[in-house]
Amino acid sequence: MESNSIHNQVTREIERLSGVKLEWPKLPPMLEERFEQNIAQQRATHLWYQGFIAIVLFDIFALIDYFIGDGASWRAIILRVAVITPLALLVNATMRWNPGKIYRETSVAVVIILVGLSELYIGAGRSSAASAYAQAGLIIAILFANLVMRLPFSYAFSTSVVLFAGDLVFFHFDHFLTPSERTLGLTLTGFSTLMSMVANFSFGRHLRLVYLMLLRNEMQSEELAFVNAELHRISSRDNLTGLANRHSFELYCGTLWQQTMTEGTLLSAIVIDIDRFKAVNDLRGHLYGDKVLTRVASLLQQSLRGKDDFAARFGGEEFVVLLPQTSQRSALIVAERIRKLVEVAGSPAVEAAEPGTVMPTTVSCGVATCLPGEGYCIEDLLEAADKALYEAKRSGRNRVCAGEVSATGSSHRPEEMSGNRIGAQSESNLRATARKVLWG
Ligand code: GH3
Ligand code: MG
Ligand code: MG
Repeated sequence: MESNSIHNQVTREIERLSGVKLEWPKLPPMLEERFEQNIAQQRATHLWYQGFIAIVLFDIFALIDYFIGDGASWRAIILRVAVITPLALLVNATMRWNPGKIYRETSVAVVIILVGLSELYIGAGRSSAASAYAQAGLIIAILFANLVMRLPFSYAFSTSVVLFAGDLVFFHFDHFLTPSERTLGLTLTGFSTLMSMVANFSFGRHLRLVYLMLLRNEMQSEELAFVNAELHRISSRDNLTGLANRHSFELYCGTLWQQTMTEGTLLSAIVIDIDRFKAVNDLRGHLYGDKVLTRVASLLQQSLRGKDDFAARFGGEEFVVLLPQTSQRSALIVAERIRKLVEVAGSPAVEAAEPGTVMPTTVSCGVATCLPGEGYCIEDLLEAADKALYEAKRSGRNRVCAGEVSATGSSHRPEEMSGNRIGAQSESNLRATARKVLWG
């Protein structure tokens, strides 16, 4: 909900700022705050670097003042080296601590204002050349604030206004320039201020537009990743029991077979089928049947101990468990654990059950083990477990039987398999799955 509203806000702002109209570059408070948080560190570093270079350049002027060497030069040198430079260095050093926006921008603006006004002060009352020189210094300070340091628009505007006002005062008291020279000087300062303010305004707008576009891309990628993960989760899980579904079993099966073949370790499979489940449904209804399925699935998961053990719902009331690096003896222990657990806790509680309607839930299990690659394929393993399950059913249900894997190899055609199996357990769909696993 919240992310939706941010998304809408971002889209609205992108549309607003990318229009042809001169839109104010400030964003709504929440986005502006986020923007500031994202750029703060980089901005402080930028100011630190640029500020440092500017201080060095500023002090080169002190050298020039020294070489000019007239009586007023010492005033300039002292002001530059002993007053402005230490203050600028101090402000510059605080940028390393990533200060808040108001301090960061205000302190830079104040230093630039001082530099600009000091240029006027240095040039005042000396000569017409010094007055012109002071004008140039002031214009450089304005351009520096608006274009190099790129102060945020409101700060750039205030800085420019103060410096321009200082220039007006300068001209008011200046006696060296002719009226036309003053007009020319003021016009130059005015135009430089105006032009650099326009550029500063566009820059602020462009910066926010780029930021919003990146933010939108990032949000879209996050949403897409979330939807993908959700789709993957939905498509790989069985809705009712939460176990892996048949599709993910098929995917996992192939990978696991390859992995165990490479490692040269044993792989065991247990096929589990709820006994007389049709009767449970008939007697207590499908909703109760569903509860039994969910319960058995949960007990199945509780019975597994190995971190790579994998349980899936095959379909209907049939489940399959894959146990990598597990011998037949261990797999039989796991199967027996499952059987016992279901026998004890497999029936959901029923309120006021009528006599004769409570049926204990039991399962039959077929177990098979093989060493992948020794002429076997995964269908041989599942086929053997399936046969063992059939044996357990035939011998009275609620029991575990082990099967022998016979090496048929992957050269078997699915049709041949069908012929072998139909007589044995026509109602089972395991075979179809095994075929699907191997031949798609
Ligand atoms: P057996 O001991 O030989 O396995 O007998 P059975 O009754 O369990 O086997 P059968 O294949 O005859 O019946 C399986 C039943 O499982 C039939 C079907 O209605 C029921 N079933 C399959 N899927 C679901 C399900 O998702 N929910 C419910 N409630 N029942 C299901
Ligand atoms: Mg069945
Ligand atoms: Mg059954």
